[in-house]
Amino acid sequence: MTLDTRRVNANVARSAAGVLSCAHCRQELEGTAENYLTLLPHYEGPVTDAGPQVCADTAEFIDVEIVFRQYYCPGCYTAFRTEVVPRV
Ligand SMILES: [Zn+2]
Repeated sequence: MTLDTRRVNANVARSAAGVLSCAHCRQELEGTAENYLTLLPHYEGPVTDAGPQVCADTAEFIDVEIVFRQYYCPGCYTAFRTEVVPRV
């Protein structure tokens, strides 16, 4: 990271020109600080991918399908965000 970049969060930096990049590998990222997450590659799978601490049978509690989703850097594959959410 150079002096003309500022951290957006632990994983993303923004240059003085407003270009976002991965704070770990400097891969340039699409979008703005407000929408870059939606433009990142992501993995989506069954809730069980979140680990044994997460209830696998969500149909017992909620009527919509629930998925495990993980957004990651396209350069170094660092997970930027992990969530268990309704499928959209
Ligand atoms: Zn990266």
